[in-house]
Amino acid sequence: MATTATTMQGLRLADRMSRLGTESAFDVLVRAKALEAAGREIVHLEIGEPDFPTAMQIVEAGVDALRYGWTHYGPSAGLPALREAVAEDAGLRRGISIDPSEVVITPGAKPIMFFVILALIDPDDEVIYPNPGFPIYESMINFVGGRPVPYALREEHDFDVDAGDIIGKITDRTRLVILNSPHNPTGGVMPRESVAELAQALAGRDLFILSDEIYSRLIYEGEHASIAQFPGMRERTIILDGFSKTYAMTGWRLGYGIMRPDLAERVAQLQTNATSCTASFSQIAAVTALRGDQSCVDEMREEFRRRRSVIVDGLNKIPGFRCRQPHGAFYAFPNITGTGRQSKALSDALLNEAGVAALSGTAFGAWGEGHLRFSFANSVENIQKALDWIEAWVKRNL
Ligand code: PLP
Repeated sequence: MATTATTMQGLRLADRMSRLGTESAFDVLVRAKALEAAGREIVHLEIGEPDFPTAMQIVEAGVDALRYGWTHYGPSAGLPALREAVAEDAGLRRGISIDPSEVVITPGAKPIMFFVILALIDPDDEVIYPNPGFPIYESMINFVGGRPVPYALREEHDFDVDAGDIIGKITDRTRLVILNSPHNPTGGVMPRESVAELAQALAGRDLFILSDEIYSRLIYEGEHASIAQFPGMRERTIILDGFSKTYAMTGWRLGYGIMRPDLAERVAQLQTNATSCTASFSQIAAVTALRGDQSCVDEMREEFRRRRSVIVDGLNKIPGFRCRQPHGAFYAFPNITGTGRQSKALSDALLNEAGVAALSGTAFGAWGEGHLRFSFANSVENIQKALDWIEAWVKRNL
């Protein structure tokens, strides 16, 4: 018999569910789609995914994989061919040697956060993480009963990490430090000197570093520096990376973690419990992504560079907005304190009244107040339209 409202009991959830956060980009997307369904025109600058199609050679490799029968379960840690390709590619790019046994392939890179925090953090263990930062870090730390210890990324320091600030927060309960460079939502990139300073201070300590490097191929100035490259850091670093942003493959769900082999085995065991494995045909396509022509990555980065100028210049012309140049990823994170509005109120008003979907800085933690995040994964024409609509709204309302 179908359950009806009259027979339904109040939903009693496990305690831990009250501590689980979310990623509000998906909520804003739903609200924006509802407005569109009601006939409104909306420019989407909320969601963090490249608007480019996946390159044709990768698509064809995926289609062929389906035809050749890659339609079954595979090993939880990932297909050997892809673990090897990742070890080679990620190692070459960072100048370190990586063994395939250190690689775990996951459906998107997000599960690496989930599994690593689940595997390493006990109740009351402290985790140092960026605020503003990707909301799933804080959500997961709270979910497992850990203690979240935020560090700030300051606009006046070009959103670089202040190594001294992180070092000052380490206690004997610290188990994990989370880094994210290039950084979502600020576009900040840690220069090599900052990473070196941090590595020196962390070497020899009994803690892990989760280094989220998902945007490492999307840097506009300078080079990517991974903390795993520094002495004493390899065995205590978990590198998180993947295919979603680099190869415009968000919907294929493909990511990976690189970590010491004994931890990799336990993370793979979590995967056995959660999803069994990552889709086999996706993994075969990913081998082609890594080993094939890389011009799709370069072309996408150059197009993002063009859009970056349009959005940053445009935002800086709007009264009350002040925007720094992001050095990596595809987000602009303007300061909006000059508008006199709170971030959430402003992002709601822009969505409902101006037709521009963006995220409140507070979607990335309390210290994101005073900012909005605009994803420039949209065409120059649409970005220009959004800028015009915001400017017109500001003129009418402020
Ligand atoms: N890390 C950061 C900083 C991100 O911004 C994202 C996606 O938005 C991810 C990880 C997760 O990527 P994936 O889609 O591969 O799970």
